[in-house]
Amino acid sequence: MDFQALLDGIDTDLRPELGREGQVASYIPALARVPVAQFGIALRTCAGEEAAAGDSAVPFSIQSVSKLFTLTLAIRLLGDALWERIHREPSGNPFNSLLQLESEQGVPRNPFINAGAIAVADRLLSTLGARAKDGLLEMLSGLAGEPIGFDAEVAASEGATGFRNIALANFMKSFGKLDNDAAAVLDLYFHQCALRMSCRQLARAAGYLCRDGAHPQGQAEPVLSERQTRRVNALMLTCGTYDAAGEFAYRIGLPCKSGVGGGIVAVVPDRLTLCVWSPAVDASGNSLLGTRALELFASRSGLSIF
Ligand code: GLN
Repeated sequence: MDFQALLDGIDTDLRPELGREGQVASYIPALARVPVAQFGIALRTCAGEEAAAGDSAVPFSIQSVSKLFTLTLAIRLLGDALWERIHREPSGNPFNSLLQLESEQGVPRNPFINAGAIAVADRLLSTLGARAKDGLLEMLSGLAGEPIGFDAEVAASEGATGFRNIALANFMKSFGKLDNDAAAVLDLYFHQCALRMSCRQLARAAGYLCRDGAHPQGQAEPVLSERQTRRVNALMLTCGTYDAAGEFAYRIGLPCKSGVGGGIVAVVPDRLTLCVWSPAVDASGNSLLGTRALELFASRSGLSIF
C-alpha cells in the first residue's frame, strides 16, 4: 500500500475544512490560544516505514493521549495489582464526570477517563516517588527515539484552573482510594497532560501497540508482554475516546486514544500505529477533523480490526 499517497490524499481533502467546525478546548487557558487551523497525520508500520502529511512535525499538548503511556508504565511496574483500584468498563459519561465515582465508592470506571488516570498517577507516585515525572519522560523519550518534554505553561495553566480534576482527586481521597496527597498526584497528572509531542513522535512512540509489545526503537526488552499489549488495545477500543467509544468503534473500527488537545493515536494491530492531530474538538473532547481523518484512513485503506 502507498501510505504516503494515502496520507497526502487525506490531508488534501480535509484542509479546506480547517477551522470550520468545533472549537479548541477553552477550559484550559493555555490550550485556548492554540491556532485552530492546523492538521497533521503520521504513521509508522511495524517494519519501520514512515509516512506523514500536513503539520505532522508540529508539537502539541498531548493531554489525555498521555493516559496511554502512564497506563503502560503502571502495568510495567505493577502488573495486575494495578487493577485493584480501577475498573475496565466504558463509562458512557464525559471524561471529567464525577457521577459514577460516588456510587462506585471512588473506584474509577477505567484508566482512560480523568478519574482513572488520576488513580494511575497515584500508583506511579507510590512506586516511583519523586522520580515519577522523570521516569515518564525517560520512557517516552526512549519510545520516540528523541527527547520529549513537558510544556510548563500548560501544566501551570491546568494547575490553576483544573477544579474538576482537583475535585475528582479529593473525592477519591475521601473514599481512601488515593495513597498520596491529592496535590502531589495532581501535579503528576497535570504534567503528563502537558507533554508536548508531534504526530510523528506519537506514531513512533506508540509503536509497541502494533508489535505485540516489542520496543519500537529495537531495544531488547519489550515494553509490554503480548498479552498486556492486547489488553491495552482492548481498553483503547472500549474506553479510549470516552462517551464516543461506541461511535469510534462503529465508524473507524480501530483502538484509539484521544486527547482534548486534538490528538488521536490509533492502532492497526500487526500493521501500524497512526497519529492525527487537529485542535478543534467536539462535545466529547475528540478532535473533529482527526476523527474524520481516521474514518477516511480506515475506509480508504480497508484496515480495521473487524
Ligand atoms: N488535561 C485534561 C483534563 O484533565 C485532559 C482531558 C482530555 O484530554 N480529555 O481535563
